[in-house]
Amino acid sequence: MKIKRKKTKVIQVGKLKIGGNNPIIVQSMTKSKLEDLDSIRSEIEELIGSGCELIRIAVPEKRSISYLKQLIDGRIFSVPVVADIQFDYRLALECMDIGIDGVRINPGNIGGHKRVGEIVEKAKRKKVAVRIGVNSGSIDKKILKENNGNIVNSMVESVLENVRLLESLKFNNFKISAKASSVLDTINVYELVSNKVDYPLHLGVTEAGPKFRGSIKSSVGIGILLSKGIGDTIRVSLTGKSIDEVKAAYIILNSLGLRKVGVDIISCPTCGRTTDDLEQIVDEIEKLTTGIKKNLKLAVMGCIVNGPGEAKDADLGIAFGKDKAAVFLKGRVIKRVDKNIAAKEFKKELERLV
Ligand code: SF4
Repeated sequence: MKIKRKKTKVIQVGKLKIGGNNPIIVQSMTKSKLEDLDSIRSEIEELIGSGCELIRIAVPEKRSISYLKQLIDGRIFSVPVVADIQFDYRLALECMDIGIDGVRINPGNIGGHKRVGEIVEKAKRKKVAVRIGVNSGSIDKKILKENNGNIVNSMVESVLENVRLLESLKFNNFKISAKASSVLDTINVYELVSNKVDYPLHLGVTEAGPKFRGSIKSSVGIGILLSKGIGDTIRVSLTGKSIDEVKAAYIILNSLGLRKVGVDIISCPTCGRTTDDLEQIVDEIEKLTTGIKKNLKLAVMGCIVNGPGEAKDADLGIAFGKDKAAVFLKGRVIKRVDKNIAAKEFKKELERLV
């Protein structure tokens, strides 16, 4: 089965094109404080190394801008950088003077149409992209009241109102996000918005939670929308390391066949038949493959029930048997080894392959 994506407009964020037939972009947001330049530099390097394609950075106050400028001037970004602005529209205006590629504004707290208009006029001049980022936790109070507190309707209305405003200003280099912390509300809002407009949509479930819970909630919300052809860029919001957001995002895209980047690991869940510490072996392989961009399917299987079948189907596979383990390369057994050296042999083949 192949997912048919909804055709959206193409926008330009720095050198990146988002929307239309372009790949669904993986983005994340830094967690380090901007003034802690060493930490944020290594976080950015780690994010780029893990395949993050667009980095958003919170700019909470005026003095943050000089730190962001140091990063931009230091040429640390090989991917577009977006300034995340809340409350103070002047921060967005100033950020556009230091070389950012995009600005994310939250219409619920930026101070009304006039201020959005000022940001948009400058974005036009500076060729900066804008994201209208409506969030369930910060909906414009007036709109919420008019919609009797209905979150979904209020979010959709807020999005549409801002789309009309930007269009009236003859600006269309923007994308939209409308994230709710409820998975069902998120799905509902994006479906309604997608029916009404054809600007690129950035998907996410906001405040999804810690790594395990947040990845699952995001996979359900983002995955359902992607399966309906909705979405041009995604972020998995986790309370945890930003690199994990990128890993989770690629797993979502890989599992839906929407991106073929990096390593996919098929491993059996283990059961009473398993005679080896498969969990540890898979953990080691996962660590070993982090950041590999080559599209590879690996299989690590615990016994002969499904092992040979899955291992054969992968680029590189291993199936443990009673005394020995068989290593498969592109469907053929290339060696049968003693189980105590099997993991080592598998890793050797993996290194050869990448
Ligand atoms: S492949 Fe074998 S060990 Fe793994 S879960 Fe299936 S039956 Fe159990």
